Order: sequence, then structure tokens, then C-alpha cells
Amino acid sequence: MGLLQSSGVRHRRPQFHPLRVAAVERLTDRAVAVTFDIPEELREAFRFQPGQHLTLRAPIDGADVRRSYSICLSSAQAAASGQLRIASNEVDGGAMSTWLNHEVSVGDTIGVLAPLGEFVCPTDPAAARRIVAVAAGSGITPVISLVRSVLEEEPASRVTLVFGNRSPESTMFSGELGALVDRHADRLDLVEVFSRVPVQDPLLAGRIDGDRLLRILHRTGVSVTDVDAWFLCGPIRMVENLRETLGAQGVDQAHVHHEEFFQ
Ligand SMILES: Cc1cc2nc3c(=O)[nH]c(=O)nc-3n(C[C@H](O)[C@H](O)[C@H](O)COP(=O)(O)OP(=O)(O)OC[C@H]3O[C@@H](n4cnc5c(N)ncnc54)[C@H](O)[C@@H]3O)c2cc1C
Repeated sequence: MGLLQSSGVRHRRPQFHPLRVAAVERLTDRAVAVTFDIPEELREAFRFQPGQHLTLRAPIDGADVRRSYSICLSSAQAAASGQLRIASNEVDGGAMSTWLNHEVSVGDTIGVLAPLGEFVCPTDPAAARRIVAVAAGSGITPVISLVRSVLEEEPASRVTLVFGNRSPESTMFSGELGALVDRHADRLDLVEVFSRVPVQDPLLAGRIDGDRLLRILHRTGVSVTDVDAWFLCGPIRMVENLRETLGAQGVDQAHVHHEEFFQ
């Protein structure tokens, strides 16, 4: 039932739809992807823009827990399958991420809100853009959706994806990203940076920050001034640092899109 606010505006309560879990796929030791069937009558409500997230609700240890998880499929993949997929990286002591990683199985029903979020990249088949995306850890989830959609829907656009992880083993979607690079080798540059394993090339060893990003772009032949849109997703500290660096380079903040998952 709607709630009448003092302003007199009637607001609908967000409606959680019970969705059936169609698949649970282990991505790494500490991350799973969960796929939901979207029934025909909810397809319109669950239409999404790549980069948006779902809000899941579950009773966990007696608490009503609600958390956001980004959709990690392109629009075309979702339309073809009638499904939506999210992925959760397990956080130590985390209520929802631990539950998703260890308790949820095929056939379960989870309450899910329709897609939300402004971290989106509307595509235009006639566009010829240069896009740079930077993701760290589980920050790849909306980014893989955005990048795949741009490559599928804008045949003349090019993407550089800089992706930071602790190690190759902890990297979510490494197989899918490899396949994406194989399919779009002329338009997708994937640069992986690792912080917890020995890496020969010092540029690719450590955490992503503004200075490292600029040096990576320089090496890959991307000029900051030629970039039409930036997509940054990961810990707040990384995102803020990258935004400051880009601002200092004269990048218009209107072209810098960002999503922060955690401190
Ligand atoms: C718009 C949006 C989209 C998101 N998309 C995704 C996604 O696609 N995949 C994904 O895995 N997560 C995503 N997140 C993060 C997710 O919503 C949860 O915050 C995360 O899963 C932790 O929830 P929890 O209930 O397990 O932990 P909680 O019980 O909330 O927290 C437990 C402890 O872990 C700390 N903590 C909370 N979150 C994190 C974190 N992410 N990393 C490290 N420490 C943390 C808390 O400070 C607390 O101390 C997204 C967040 C937002 C805001």
C-alpha cells in the first residue's frame, strides 16, 4: 500500500518481487554469480540499462537484510535468456554476501527490486567513442555489463578496461573477459593489475591509482583528451583518487561516471 507523505505526494513502497534462482555459478573461491528467471509478466519491470543494480532482500539470522548487486549481463544477453544475473564477492563477516556465497541454491526464491541506478551508458549504434573503464575487485560487475553492451551495440567504439585484483585466482569473470577480448581484439584493450602476487612489470603490480592509470593509458596509446566517457567502479578511495587525477588533467567531470561499492 502507498504511503501518504506530509507533502501530500503519494509514494509507492518499493516492491520486492519473488524471483526464482535459475543458476548459481562459482566464479572464484570467494565469489558467486546468481541468475534469476524473470517471468514474462515482470520482463517490462525488470528491463534494465547496463550498469544498473538489483536490490535483494532476505531474512538472514533474524534480520531483514537488503543489499545492492549490479547486473552482470549485457542487454542482449538478458533479452535472449529471459534472465538476469548478479555476482557477489564474499566479504568477511558480511551478512548478505556470505549468505549468497554459501546458502543460496537453484530453485530458491529471493525478493528483488526492479533495476535502479544512474551508472549507465546509453548506447548509440552510430557512435564512434573511446571509452575507458576502471574496475577493482567486484567493481567489475556493472562494468562487464557496460563494456559488453558498448562492444555489441556500438561497432565503431573502442574500450580500454583497466581491472585491478589481488591475484588472477581472485579475479571475477576472467574467462568471460578473455573471451570478450578474443571476440573484439581490435576494439577492447584489457589491462590487468595485481596487488598481491609478484608481477614482472612494475606498472601492473599494485593498486590502481590516478598516477598508475595515467601511465597505463600513456603506454596503451590513449590520450586523456580523446576519451569520450569514463566509468569508474570500486572502493570509494580508488574512485575519489581517480576522479581527482582526471579533474587535474582537465577532464570534464560530466564525462566521468562512477559507482562506489564500499569504503
Ligand atoms: C550500487 C551498488 C552496487 C553493488 N554491486 C555489487 C556487486 O555487483 N557485487 C558485490 O559483490 N557487491 C556489490 N555491492 C556491495 C554490496 O551491496 C554489499 O555491500 C556487500 O555484498 C557486503 O554486504 P554484506 O551484507 O555481505 O556485508 P555487511 O554485513 O553489510 O558488512 C560486513 C562488514 O564488511 C564491510 N563491508 C561491507 N561491504 C564491503 C565490501 N564490498 N568490501 C569490503 N568490506 C565491506 C562492512 O563495513 C562491515 O564491516 C554494491 C553496492 C552498491 C551500493
